Amino acid sequence: MFRVEETGLTEGFFAGRDRTRVSLLHFADDTIFFSKASLEHLQNLKIILLVFGQVSGLKINLEKSTILGINTGQELLSCLASVFYCRVSKWPLFYLGLPLGGNSKTIGFWDPVVERISRRLDGWKKTFLSLGGRITLIQSSLTHIPSYFLSLFKVPASIASKIDKLQRDSLWSGAGEGKKDHLIKWDVVSRPKELGGLGFGKTSLRNIALLGKWLWRFLRERSGLWHKVITSIYRTHPNGWDADIVVRWSHRCPWKAIAQVFRDFSPFVHLMVGNGEGIRFWEDHWWGNQTMCSHFAGLYRVISVKNLTVSNVIGNSFPLSWNLNFRHNLTNSKIDLLQSLMSSLSSVFFSPSLEDSRGWSLSSSGLFSLKSFFLVLSKVSNPILFLPAKFLWSSKAPSKVWLVAHGKVNTNDKLQLRRPYKSLCPQWCILCKGNGESIDHIFLHCPVTIGLWHKLFNLARLAWVSPKNIEDMLVVVFKGLGNSLRGKTLWQIACLTLLWMVWQERNNRIFEDKERTEEMLWDLILFYSSLYASCTTGFRGIPLSVLQLNWTAVCTSKV
Ligand SMILES: [Zn+2]
Repeated sequence: MFRVEETGLTEGFFAGRDRTRVSLLHFADDTIFFSKASLEHLQNLKIILLVFGQVSGLKINLEKSTILGINTGQELLSCLASVFYCRVSKWPLFYLGLPLGGNSKTIGFWDPVVERISRRLDGWKKTFLSLGGRITLIQSSLTHIPSYFLSLFKVPASIASKIDKLQRDSLWSGAGEGKKDHLIKWDVVSRPKELGGLGFGKTSLRNIALLGKWLWRFLRERSGLWHKVITSIYRTHPNGWDADIVVRWSHRCPWKAIAQVFRDFSPFVHLMVGNGEGIRFWEDHWWGNQTMCSHFAGLYRVISVKNLTVSNVIGNSFPLSWNLNFRHNLTNSKIDLLQSLMSSLSSVFFSPSLEDSRGWSLSSSGLFSLKSFFLVLSKVSNPILFLPAKFLWSSKAPSKVWLVAHGKVNTNDKLQLRRPYKSLCPQWCILCKGNGESIDHIFLHCPVTIGLWHKLFNLARLAWVSPKNIEDMLVVVFKGLGNSLRGKTLWQIACLTLLWMVWQERNNRIFEDKERTEEMLWDLILFYSSLYASCTTGFRGIPLSVLQLNWTAVCTSKV
């Protein structure tokens, strides 16, 4: 193809100031050819395709092909289409499932995404799914097409909240709930698990993280055609890496939205100095805890040339060469500043044979990960965290425990407020047949529950005073079974299982009219805690029967 272009038989188009040539895009079995709107060029292209078909044995299906014009009259276009016996179609063109030439700021552009998500969420008999099942369903609703769109286009706020709402409604549409109760604010639910949520993430933040991936790839794929086209059209910083140039024109251009993510993205990229040719001495943050231009602002004001690379200014081998070029003679105070600059760089380390590179600060490998970027974005927007997130997720307890821990199960006093008709016996706890039922009562202060907590603390040889509320209970870390990984894990699991068992018992008594004794409950807590624990890595290889018999021994043993 390139050889053909050089002979002028076909041309493609040229992008930007470097006149980067783009003649075809090809992925899997979809190909786009770009050509001048001239009969001659298209006839040449047709011949090339026919020859290619003969040589390779691949058949090109012209009937499935379409032709689209850019600033081309309808008549000319129909005439050109007749060369290929193909249809004339209209923008946007769908390529790999994405509309090219559409306007991502319009609501209609996002219809396929919203439709896909809502179809997926509605396609299931949600009411028969457990909370855990619904969580999985929601997590899977953002696959394929929606992720595709979100990874290339900036989602308008109204669409983002529409997607969030679809997921939210779906989460709380459990059996027998009739009218939907949203038990916990979406803000909390959508947090990553590490921050005490269920990990769906806000659509708008997921979008930013996905767009950020292009900025990372932009740093790494500098020989790719897409990198050349972007650089040719929009330019980069003189260091050749950073893409935070202001894209003023063309509101439709996806790169504009991506370039705007740079502000969120760049704090997590660090520079690794090799030969110093790809890092700007003054403007990039490559040494110490801030950029040279802000640390030595007095000097920066009087240098004559900006945007110089590290190797331009100080060379990349020892002794350093110091090519600073000031606009006028330095005052005494500036000379002091210069001295301090020089001495601060005395321990800088170069590897002249290596290119400069950039690393992602949020992962140990130094490579960008979507998850880490998304997590840090979510942290910024969720500054207040009160729940012991690790506590909740390091165990294998069922997801309803998560509701319990957030104090958000429908106890009688809550039901009474929401739906007076549904509450069975207001002001009455079915476990102790007295007092009012509230989260704190049922999980902490009810005599039946207190009995169970005492048994758990006795087992760990600890005295226990009941805290005021359930949040306090979960925040305090009791070293009940020792400081080992096993001890901590098992203790957490036991606490969650206790909460879970109490809740089960309460429901069984109300809805099934079945009652278990405190002793039976305690046996179940011991059994299920051991079972959940044996599923975790720390207890691998220990038979359930052994674990169940003596927690303390298993947790303190070295093996
Ligand atoms: Zn009670």
